[in-house]
Amino acid sequence: MNQPHPDPVVDYHDVVKTFGAGATEVRALNGVSLSVRAGEFTAIMGPSGCGKSTLLHLGGGLELPTAGSVRFDGHDLAAIGPSRLAEIRRRHLGYVFQSLNLVSSLTALENVMLPMELDGLSVRDARAHAIEALAQVGIEQQLDRHPDSFSGGQQQRIAIARAVVGERKVLFADEPTGALDTLTADQVVEVLAGLTDRGVAVVMVTHEPRFASWADRVVFLRDGKVVDESVAAGSGVSR
Ligand code: ADP
Ligand code: MG
Repeated sequence: MNQPHPDPVVDYHDVVKTFGAGATEVRALNGVSLSVRAGEFTAIMGPSGCGKSTLLHLGGGLELPTAGSVRFDGHDLAAIGPSRLAEIRRRHLGYVFQSLNLVSSLTALENVMLPMELDGLSVRDARAHAIEALAQVGIEQQLDRHPDSFSGGQQQRIAIARAVVGERKVLFADEPTGALDTLTADQVVEVLAGLTDRGVAVVMVTHEPRFASWADRVVFLRDGKVVDESVAAGSGVSR
């Protein structure tokens, strides 16, 4: 097991997020405090509509809180300004969603190189980082093939490689196994758990207790609030 880093990499403090106004206002998060540390695998569970995706969007700086704060490495994401926020998102944060978001006209390798190239790296360096990230998720061959020639599980692993390529500190995964069969889903969760060994903080929304048991802890949300936080029974046992 990893020894969690003492300082949180993402720190939610009393976060409220509302959508709309007046009679149609929806309170997606209603006072959530949560610290995510380097090398820690956190599973988020809870009924549909309880605020899981909103929690991930705020952690990744895709949206800003209505009240409270979200800090990345100590910086308040609402206070740093749009260009620095964009830079943090691009360099340090990664996302994986249920549906595969690979670019079908690019090869597997080019898909993973893309974020590095957008960040201004040379093709040569981007290529080296991408090959390394793909190896980490167990994709080492046929990198010049296009995504649709890979299986669903392989495509999700390529998407994970793209989300963590370079020096990403946090990977937010929103139901990453939702579209996969059981065996394939197991492999994807195993890959996510393995990322923590090199210090990546992984925050995964899942409906499957079995997958949550891979996590170091499980956070349960209901009606926009954390209602329980527990260390998973299977934590550390299965690796
Ligand atoms: P979960 O991922 O747990 O299913 P969400 O975070 O997607 O829940 O949504 C929480 C609540 O916030 C839901 O009631 C949802 O309808 C609402 N919501 C989320 N995003 C928006 C949005 N962009 N505009 C309006 N309402 C939203
Ligand atoms: Mg959701």
